[in-house]
Amino acid sequence: MKEIIEGFLKFREEVFPIHEDLFRGLAHQQRPRTLFISCSDSRLVPELVTQHQPGGLFVIRNAGNIVPSYGPEPGGVSASVEYAVTALQVTDVVICGHSDCGAMKAIATCACMDEMPAVGSWLRYADSARIVNQARHYASERARIESMVRENVIAQLANIQTHPSVRLALEEGRLALHGWVYDIESGRIEAFDGASRSFVSLAEHTEVCATPAQFATAV
Ligand code: ZN
Repeated sequence: MKEIIEGFLKFREEVFPIHEDLFRGLAHQQRPRTLFISCSDSRLVPELVTQHQPGGLFVIRNAGNIVPSYGPEPGGVSASVEYAVTALQVTDVVICGHSDCGAMKAIATCACMDEMPAVGSWLRYADSARIVNQARHYASERARIESMVRENVIAQLANIQTHPSVRLALEEGRLALHGWVYDIESGRIEAFDGASRSFVSLAEHTEVCATPAQFATAV
């Protein structure tokens, strides 16, 4: 904890003064354009990877970058999605998985969850990805886990579209969905291309989107 407090003191004395105007402007309002949903993993920092300052991203983080499908008893993730899309009117949602994800590893290797029943229950929201993953054959366990990470992003892109606020925004053509996988070792990002239903390099395909324009604006 000592390092955390020391970090705060350094922020207050060295960093805050440099950005004082930014924080003054943000004191009573925020206008983030993007809802960024990622895993809680300490190695993925959304603001660092996207080079965004405070106020730039509305962020939801949890184990496995999961978005529960909408239901009669919506929880915290659903409330945050609804607020971002309806109140803040974000124009883009990024669901970002990552390499070496403990949650996806646990699912892909059928790890015992008896000692972590809450985690086991939470990861059931990735069941459609798990079923697809188990039905395929892989050359190695590493390949199985990497595929699980990608399939989970696809599953969560489907889950988020069960949310009424997201459905309406897509219907009105004012929201685009993006599915990314961040590689910790290389810093690369693979993005899901909804048109070809495959993952491609984001650096080489910067326009790629999980919800192609014709889908988002369909009447
Ligand atoms: Zn993770």
